[in-house]
Amino acid sequence: MPSLTQDFLSTLRDTYDKALALGNLVFNGDNAVNEMVSTEINGSTYTSCLTLLASLEHRPEKGSVDKNPFAKPEPELTIEDSFGEHDEFKLVLNKFPVVPQHFMLVTKEFKSQNTPLSPNELGATFAVLRALERAKKEDNKDWFAFYNCGPQSGASQPHKHIQFMTLPAGFEPFASRLARTSPHFIPNQHQEPLQDLNLSFAHFVAVLPDDLGDDSEEVLTLTFVSLLQRALTVLREAHCDHISYNFCATTKWMMLMPRSSGSYEDKMGVNSCGVMGLFLCKNKELFDLVKDTGFEKIERLVGFASTAGQGSDEYHY
Ligand code: AMP
Ligand code: AMP
Repeated sequence: MPSLTQDFLSTLRDTYDKALALGNLVFNGDNAVNEMVSTEINGSTYTSCLTLLASLEHRPEKGSVDKNPFAKPEPELTIEDSFGEHDEFKLVLNKFPVVPQHFMLVTKEFKSQNTPLSPNELGATFAVLRALERAKKEDNKDWFAFYNCGPQSGASQPHKHIQFMTLPAGFEPFASRLARTSPHFIPNQHQEPLQDLNLSFAHFVAVLPDDLGDDSEEVLTLTFVSLLQRALTVLREAHCDHISYNFCATTKWMMLMPRSSGSYEDKMGVNSCGVMGLFLCKNKELFDLVKDTGFEKIERLVGFASTAGQGSDEYHY
């Protein structure tokens, strides 16, 4: 597994501060209004975080293979020019962040955003998450990684990119709470991933061992594949003609959520942030709508019915 230097956080901060000061990136969060919303479900309290950002300065709507910002990332946005076991990645700041220091792991060569995460991509993702965790005593921030895979996952760029963003202070995603209830997942032991019984939508969570050990890429890959099997089974049973899911992870767990639609009733794009319970609303009407509807119903609409308790049989992937 590749590793990052001890001062990674200061390199990240410095690159961000400089790019911001020189106008190489557009920070959209200054006028953001955040609201934590609590929802009671069967006696348990769940939190989502709604962000109202009326003046979202526009990033390119949809990238394409020809108009691809990650083919040659801007040097001013580049945090690490070469990263990975074979120097196959770059770490690049998001040019249009809503949360400071939002950045991405991008492949140097073009790879499709519709492909699953490979062992080296998982290894690199967790190496970044661990470096951020080690730096927590400095910035006290909780980070997560996400990957929007497939046409209905909320991705806008076709070149493979895994993103890293901080969670709002005091926000605990439902997946983190669920992960606290269970020992770590052991792939290939006929063990089912976790699904919160209070939630109506399909989501598959695997708790990771505290110490991934020397075979960490293998453990991460076997775990990812176990979750992907469940997501693919859900998509096949719904006769989907696409493979779309969100991958979210911290150092403690990973989650896959299969997706039926990239947007909530064509009103608002929902990507992995939404799946985590973080909703970016571009006007007050949407903000009120998301608040009234609730995260649980929205996630059910953009995903599929929960399969909790169904187990796996020989008809499943
Ligand atoms: P997604 O929309 O999840 O596919 O993520 C792609 C991200 O790339 C978006 O969050 C954009 O803000 C960001 N982005 C677009 N153009 C650039 C660029 N030239 N350099 C860096 N990030 C970019
Ligand atoms: P969008 O135009 O909704 O795809 O997202 C604009 C930018 O904000 C992109 O860089 C997204 O990755 C990022 N983003 C999306 N949802 C959130 C959220 N809930 N909080 C912070 N940033 C977000």
